[in-house]
Amino acid sequence: MRTLTLEESLKTARRNGIRTAKWREARNEKELRLALQATGFPAVIKVNSEKASHKSDAGGVALGLATIKQAIAAFRRMKRIPGFRSAIVQETAKGHEIILGAKRDVQFGPVLLIGMGGIYAEVLEDTAIALCPVSKGRALRMLKSLRGAKILSGIRGQEGIDFAAAAEQAARLSRMMAKHSEITEVDLNPVMASHKGAVAVDARIVEEE
Ligand code: ADP
Ligand code: MG
Repeated sequence: MRTLTLEESLKTARRNGIRTAKWREARNEKELRLALQATGFPAVIKVNSEKASHKSDAGGVALGLATIKQAIAAFRRMKRIPGFRSAIVQETAKGHEIILGAKRDVQFGPVLLIGMGGIYAEVLEDTAIALCPVSKGRALRMLKSLRGAKILSGIRGQEGIDFAAAAEQAARLSRMMAKHSEITEVDLNPVMASHKGAVAVDARIVEEE
């Protein structure tokens, strides 16, 4: 088993039609400046490491970087994290956090999980699980079955998320599992869902060797 790096995971997801928040890889400060031009401010910088797959725990996620100076400081901190390969520079995505996951079960084959992300994930443990293949329609019903669906629909004048776009992402994840038998596990945690769509900001893929 091999856990792909963040860059490899985001690339694999994107190659399979899964939308990711706009991102660029930066291996040095020159590339960092170019990357920031593409993503804009406030920017997010994450460590792309062979070792740190739980990036926040390793100090490998810097959010809300407002200036080039702040971004350079964050980049220099990332460089000291064990297994550092490069940094991933991302646009800041807004919306509600949801979790899309998939796991290959020895008996049942690929299983898809849709859940509430962020603080709700920890407090509510609010998830729906189904055997693949999961169609867009099925994914939509799973999303609406969550206790947190009300939050996603928009409460207190907040705008609701684009449920169809989020369901499409889930269906694409299901298709990716069908197509790539070497992939044993995928975590898109979180996917940021808003009225504008749904984009993965984090990806962690495990492959069989
Ligand atoms: P890890 O799960 O490895 O610690 P994440 O990439 O999931 O790292 O980042 C940690 C948290 O930071 C996310 O759960 C999310 O709340 C926030 N975050 C990460 N990337 C973005 C982004 N591009 N825009 C907005 N928030 C983000
Ligand atoms: Mg994460």
